[in-house]
Amino acid sequence: MTIERVAVVGAGTMGNGIAHVCALAGLEVVLVDSDPGAHERGLATIGRNLERQRSKGKIGEAERHAALGRIEPATALERVSRAGLVVEAVPEIAELKYGIFEQLDRLAPRDAILASNTSSISITAIAAGTTRPGQVIGMHFMNPVPVMKLVEVIRGLRTDDATTATVMNLSRALGKVPVEVRDFPGFVSNRILAPMINEAVFALMEGVAEAEAIDTVMKLGMNHPMGPLALADLIGLDTCLNILEVLHRELGDDRYRPCPLLRQYVAAGWLGRKTGRGFHIYGGGR
Ligand code: NAD
Repeated sequence: MTIERVAVVGAGTMGNGIAHVCALAGLEVVLVDSDPGAHERGLATIGRNLERQRSKGKIGEAERHAALGRIEPATALERVSRAGLVVEAVPEIAELKYGIFEQLDRLAPRDAILASNTSSISITAIAAGTTRPGQVIGMHFMNPVPVMKLVEVIRGLRTDDATTATVMNLSRALGKVPVEVRDFPGFVSNRILAPMINEAVFALMEGVAEAEAIDTVMKLGMNHPMGPLALADLIGLDTCLNILEVLHRELGDDRYRPCPLLRQYVAAGWLGRKTGRGFHIYGGGR
């Protein structure tokens, strides 16, 4: 199946990046968000990121212009009605995603594939609330989407071969490298990454070292391109907490218990880069 029109639901950190790479690959994109302010921020981010790619010579002016012209913002979920693929990127809250997929199942064309960008929630469970579990799949892009090569493609228990093949091919057409994994809490990426971030927050809480020092140890000592606390700020501390809650609940093992300091930062509204403050401070902090 060839996909020509995509709907991205959620225009936040991930949704705007997914819309960006789809539009640049020549797909028509409807970017749906219930918050009109999110469109404005999302489209501004896409504009800045396309301009950065142009100034580095990675894309031409005509490509930049055409990509922007292919993205149409919308607030009503009904606008998914012509999409061959819907990629959901709303916050990492299971009940919210279940509700959205039930609606997408009613609103999207019968042959459309419904994908979730979830970091940790069961694709099998999301699919079970629809009448097309064979066409439901995980399409887990990495942040920042225009830069990162990986797409973790998650096959739910009932995802069919044709859906998997279409999503693997589409990911390649977007210039990404898809890797197929099975549906288990956190998949591969967050099964390994989230506990590492959590451990870094415990080290900070216990006073083992300052945030800057923890990040420097992991960058220079382990050759990580960025430290775990800076990475948590980039991901969003609310998203990190939600992922750890899923791992803790679904795997039933206390080694995944979220660090109390992480909970406290989220309660304070210190969510990382998107609010100007997390474990580090950005642009003076808001
Ligand atoms: P975000 O909070 O930045 O954006 C979520 C957007 O969804 C917001 O703009 C919000 O207005 C919108 N939204 C909320 N409810 C909605 C609804 N009912 N209908 C339409 N729009 C709605 O979140 P994010 O960081 O982009 O994360 C989105 C998903 O991607 C999550 O499942 C997350 O786990 C996953 N993810 C995040 C990262 C990351 O680094 N942030 C990486 C990979 C995957």
